[in-house]
Formats: sequence, C-alpha cells, structure tokens
Amino acid sequence: MRALSLAASFLVLLAMSPRTHAQSRPPDLSAGVSESLAIDRASRVADVRYSLSFDIPASRTETIPARAAISFALSDASAPLALDFEPNAIGRVRQISVAGTAVNTTLQNGHLILPAAALRAGANLVVIDFEAGDAPLNRNDDFLYTILVPARAHEAFPCFDQPDLKARWTLQLTIPAGWEALANGAETARSTSNDRQRISFAETEPISTYLFAFAAGRFSVEQAERNGRMFRMVHRETDARKVARNRDALFDLHAAALDWLERYTGIPYPFGKFDFFLVPAFQFGGMEHPGAVFYNASGLMLDESATQNQLLERASTISHETSHMWFGDLVTMRWFTDVWMKEVFANFMAAKIVNPSFPGVNHDLRFLHAYYPLAYEVDRTAGTNAIRQPLDNLKDAGTLYGAIIYQKAPIVMRQLETIMGAEAFRDGLREYLRQHKFGNASWSDLIAVLDERTPEDLATWSHAWVEEAGRPAITTELSVVNGQIEHLAFTTRDPYPRRALTWTQDIQVALGYIDRIQLVPVHLSGTRTDVAAARGLPAPLFVLPNGGGIAYGDMHLDRQSLSYLSQHVPDVGDALTRGSAWVTLWDAMLDAQLSAERILDLAIGALPREDNELNVQRVLSYLEQANWKFVPESVRASRASSIEQTLRDGLGRASTTSLKSAYFSALRDIAVTPPTLGWLTRVWSGEESIPGLTLAETDFIALTQELAVREVPGWRTLLQQQIERTQNPDRKARLQFVAPALSSEAAERDRFFASLADVNNRRHEPWVLDGLRYLHHPLRAQASVKYIASSLNLLQEIQQTGDIFFPKRWMDATLSGHRSLEAARLVHSFVDRLPPAYPDRLRRIVLSSADDLFRASGERVSP
Ligand SMILES: [Zn+2]
Repeated sequence: MRALSLAASFLVLLAMSPRTHAQSRPPDLSAGVSESLAIDRASRVADVRYSLSFDIPASRTETIPARAAISFALSDASAPLALDFEPNAIGRVRQISVAGTAVNTTLQNGHLILPAAALRAGANLVVIDFEAGDAPLNRNDDFLYTILVPARAHEAFPCFDQPDLKARWTLQLTIPAGWEALANGAETARSTSNDRQRISFAETEPISTYLFAFAAGRFSVEQAERNGRMFRMVHRETDARKVARNRDALFDLHAAALDWLERYTGIPYPFGKFDFFLVPAFQFGGMEHPGAVFYNASGLMLDESATQNQLLERASTISHETSHMWFGDLVTMRWFTDVWMKEVFANFMAAKIVNPSFPGVNHDLRFLHAYYPLAYEVDRTAGTNAIRQPLDNLKDAGTLYGAIIYQKAPIVMRQLETIMGAEAFRDGLREYLRQHKFGNASWSDLIAVLDERTPEDLATWSHAWVEEAGRPAITTELSVVNGQIEHLAFTTRDPYPRRALTWTQDIQVALGYIDRIQLVPVHLSGTRTDVAAARGLPAPLFVLPNGGGIAYGDMHLDRQSLSYLSQHVPDVGDALTRGSAWVTLWDAMLDAQLSAERILDLAIGALPREDNELNVQRVLSYLEQANWKFVPESVRASRASSIEQTLRDGLGRASTTSLKSAYFSALRDIAVTPPTLGWLTRVWSGEESIPGLTLAETDFIALTQELAVREVPGWRTLLQQQIERTQNPDRKARLQFVAPALSSEAAERDRFFASLADVNNRRHEPWVLDGLRYLHHPLRAQASVKYIASSLNLLQEIQQTGDIFFPKRWMDATLSGHRSLEAARLVHSFVDRLPPAYPDRLRRIVLSSADDLFRASGERVSP
C-alpha cells in the first residue's frame, strides 16, 4: 500500500521526497536500492512470504549453501521484476525457478531481474538455490549473527530489500551439533543427525527485511518467566558469577518495559515470543529485531564496578529496543528518510519507561545530560544536518544516523509533547499505531494525526525543528535599576542568516538568587521575546535561559550572568540548574567567551562540592576534555598534581560503588604523574586495592591499555600478562588485536594502522576503534598526525563496507586526540579539495568530528 496523503495543505511545506513524481520513470536499477525502484515495486508487489534455509558449516570460511522460496502477489506482470541480491565474493546464485520452471535471469548491479515472461499477475513463487553472501552475517569462529539494517539483507540472500515490502518469514537453519540458535520466530522443531542439527522457526508476523534476524553458535541460554511471559537470554559470557549477578535484572527490565509499552500504546506486544542475544563486541548498543533483540553484551552484563550512569544506560537501551517493537517494528517508516522517527520514539519512550525504575534519580537532569551535550556536539558544527534528511538510495541510509537523530530528536519530540499536552500526544500516537499496524507510515502521516489534536501551527514548528539543521542563538538582555529587573528579554537568531527561520519553544528561565532559584515560564517566538513577568523582580545573580533544562539553543548569557556562573557554578543550589549551567559554560568556552583554563579550575573546585552523581559525571567529562584538548600544555602540566589529588580524594570520599568507579575511570584516563602511575600499576598487580571498589576483567584491561600508552616501566610485560590472564576468549582476542596500537615502537603502530586498509582487519569495529583511539592518544598525537590523511581517504570505503555508525566513529577516534594546527589544516585542506561528487554526508561527518580540533587549534571553517 502506498497511500501518501497529500490532502492537508501544510504538507507542501514538508520536504517532499521525489517519491510522488517517480512513478512514470522506469525504475532505476543502479547499485543499492534506489527510491524509484522501491516505489515501483511497492506499487506492484504485495503479500510477500520468504521461506529461507541456510546450511551453516562450523568453519567460518566455508560457503553457506542456502535456498529462498519467495512467494508474492503481483498486480502488473507486464514488465520484468527485480529482486535484490549482491553477495560478496563467496555468495552466488546456483539456480532459479519461477512457478517450478527454471528461468534464466540476469544479474545487474546487485539486482536479479526476473523476466516478464516468467511472471504472471496474481500469485508467484520464485525458488532460488544460492550460496549466501557473508558480509552481513558477522561470522566468528564459534558463532555468527545477522545485521541487516539498513538494507544489507540482499548482501546475504535474494529479497525485495526495502522497508515497505513487509513479509512473513519462515526459517530453517542446519548448524553444527552443540550450537544453539535463535531467530524472529519461535523454534518449532529440532532434529539431529551425526554432527549436524536442523532447527525450524515459526512463521513471523509481517516484518521488514532489515528486521529479519538469526544467530547461531556456541551459546549459553538462560530462561525466566515474568508476568506470565517466557523470556530467553542467549549469551557467551564465561564468568558464571557475572551472569548470576545480571540475569534477573535483565529479565525484570525487559518485562517492565513491555508492560509499560502495552499500557501506553494500548496494543499488546505484537510479536509472540521474546528472546534477546548478548553479542560480544557488537557494533551497536542494540538492534530491535522482533522476537530476537540483539545487544552489545558489555552494555547489559555489567560488572560490580558499574556506575549509576551505566545502570541507567542499560535500562535505557533495553527500553529503547523494546519500544521499537511498536515504534519501528509494528509501524515502520516507509523509507529511511524517516528512520529518525523510530529512533526518536524509542529514545523518547525509553526516558519515560526508565524513570520509575530509578526513583532516586533527577530525571530532568538525566534527560539534560543524556541528550543536550551530544546533540550540541554535532548541531554547533559546520557539519550538522536536519533531523529529517532526503535519501535517494538505501545504500546511503547508514549515513543518516547520528546524534541529530538520537539526541536532538528526543529534545524536539519533548517540545512537541509540551505543545500538545501529554494526553493528546499519547492519544495521537495510539491512533497512529492503530492506523498503520503491520504497515508503514511517514512523518506527514503522524503530523496529520497530531495536527487534529492541537490548535498550534505544527507545520511551521516542524519546518524549523525537524526539516532544517542547526540551533537558534538565544541572547539574554537584562537591565537592572535600583536592585530590580527593569527589563528582561531574549532575542532568537537563526544561525544561518539567509534562512531566517522562526524558532518557537516553551522554556523555563532560571533567575538565580543567593538562597533560591526562581523558574519563569517563557514562550519564545519571533526574533525578540520580552518577559513581562520578570519586571520588578529582585535583581538576580544570574539569568539562565536553560535553567529549567528545556531550552535548546546556543545560549549567549548577559555579561553579569556569565561572569557569576564562571566563578560560582558550585554555589547554584538546584542540581538541574547547576547541570544546565555547566552545559552552557562549556558552549561559552567553545565560543571563546571563557577560557579552557577557567573551566578546568572551575571543575577542580567544583568536584569536592558536587553531590549529584549525574553532575559529577558531566564535570569529570568536561575536566578530561578541557585537560586533553583545550588548555595549553603548560597549564596541563601545572595542574596535573592537583587534578589527580582531586580525583583521588573523590575516589576516597565517594559513598557509592558507582561514584567510586566514575572517579577511578577519570583518574585512570587522566593520570600522568609518576606517583599516580605507580599507584595505578600496583592496583593493576593487586598489591593495592581500592576500598569499596572491585575491579573486573574489563577494568583491568582498560587499566592495562592506559598504562601501556603511557609507557610505564615494564609496560610490555604488563600487557603480555594481561593478555595471558584474560579469561574470556572474546575479550582476550580484542586485547591482542589492540596491543600493537599501544606499542612504544612507531614501526609497530605503523603496521597496525596499515593493516586497517584491509577490510578483513576491520571486521570487529569496536576493536578497530579502540586501536585508533590509542594510536591517536593525546600523548602520541604528534607522532600520529601522519595517519590522519590516510584515515580521511579511507572514509568512503569505510562507509561502503562498514556498519551504520562506523564512519562517524572512525573519524571521531581518529581526531579525538588531536589539537594541533597541523592536524586541523590537514583536515581543512582535505575538505577543501573534495571533488563535487564526494558524498555530502561524509563531508559533514568530517566537519562535525573535526569541530573540537578546529576550535582548539584556532582553525575555523565556515558552514
Ligand atoms: Zn533504535
């Protein structure tokens, strides 16, 4: 069904994709899945069913024989029809039949073209024997798992690889005896003969190709019942105590999230059984396959030393993926241009779900710290993008993902909820889900539903916040006469003057007094907003537009407020306003209104007084960034002892394990003086312990890496011993991979970097990123400038061969340790010399990853 409602007049304001014009052209059969191909197929094909079988050998290098039986209804059989199949070297088609008769097909740019003569209007059955492509199968020695998002299913098997041709799937896996397996559907049968076993899985509800999933390998399985529902957890953790410590919490968190979502949406969990798989070194935090959610094991199986942030993060990740069962899986974007919708709802719901499980946490503050700094990190740069982005071909869909989708969009969605009221918003979502369940919808479909429930002008609002990039600059105007506010106003300016957007938002302005914070609600609209309610109030010590944690923008404080907060932020009594002040001061530092040295000293002074753990984490992060990236090296050297002492004191004083862990991690990452490095070495060897903090294998590995990159005496032995004493095989392999990047020998590091040019050495993306971060560690920055140009040149290939988050993370890891003018100019000249055909999104990724480097080095780039 391709009903795109164009009735409402405001919809012309939304960036309409070429979708509406494409019908008349013949479909574009270039590589990937073009929008016109997708539109053509969605108009002709319906009722798709896949029956897939894979014969998976024990060895990860052997081919995987497979069969796909694809049935579908065709409305128009007068033209050929393309399936997508673009396997890598090991995959190929062996034989194709349509309706039982062998046919000759052509393979063109990753499309298998079925001739019109073999097709008929109505029901068709295509059976294909093939060898599966293995690029999206993530084959390891003892296990494999699929990751087919955004459109990688056709790299493994033939299919219509687009989100709006949902299908029912049945699956049969033949795997080595002793392996376990899971898939979207429940296991229905299992038989073993000799050293092979065959497992069949039940037919799924209609789901998109990118959501089809299976995993098989040497796994352990835990099972538990919650609220009458059976959950299965599949994992590879070898530490039995770690499993025992985590399992109940993981089942509880899933059950609580499902329960909450069923109540909020009014729709029961739509996909039958619920399994989840904890993947070692997973490339994402999680992936929302219906009935078989995959997670990064390290995010869920926490150590005893886990921080409060990690506990919150874990609950959020679980709630995020569980929310996707409704937002994304049940109702799916028609095209990946709206991929942000599923992500924003998942994050937005996650925040609502997690709150009741953490009654001791200030959730507004949590929202602030979880979303604002990361959104600003991209939105303040010349490389930023709109939340909703056009997309011509699914092969580029991976480049749409990033902080604007994951962090800015939830902030914007919270505004929309504020504009509409929580109940009207929820009712709108319920109707949207009911209307489109097991189908597809776009942003305009949702806005149409919501617009009926509010008198506000959602079209104009959506245009500025969703369809365009950047954040408004908000400037405070304050005048005080005789100790009273004479006038308070805010000007809102579009950062791109030629565009002159209207930015509307409801905010809570904080007026700070010696003993209290007064929040004043302000509706910002137009270019200047006068706050009449503030007139005559006592003169405040400071005015903070985001004091209530809601306003989004580049805040320019008045002189008095900036000066007060840059000296006295620890005196601000309210934790949310204090956290918000930190976020604003950091922006002011990046804008050169405040020195990095001031931020560093403010942080050193604030930590002993900060009692809110979320704020402690934020301040520690700013302390580390200011220290490594922004203060002059002479300042860094002069403050080293006092910083380390502050962190040691914090570690001793901290009353919770999680706070201790936060201080310990910061100390480990920042330490440079011999006494602290000596102490850390003794902690590593067990000669010293930290009261109240038990370090786990992952902590010892991180400590090893930090000590090695600092070349402490005996570092090479220490590294070798850590590899030997690491029990978990996946973690051991990871450390072995990273080890050459830690070496003091430049030649060894050169070889490590050179090896990354081979895609086979980039299979484990988190390993590669670890290696890159140490290769480019600030202490090694001078020696590693030489790798930057090659890294930039590899970016396009990284995007083509890697998973969705890899290009940005590759650039971040490459540039994070650099601050020199030399490094900045290298990046700048790369961007300047790009050919016109270079993908704009990759150029933007480079610009946003390099933003801190440009600012720290004084090199500026205009948007
Ligand atoms: Zn998601």
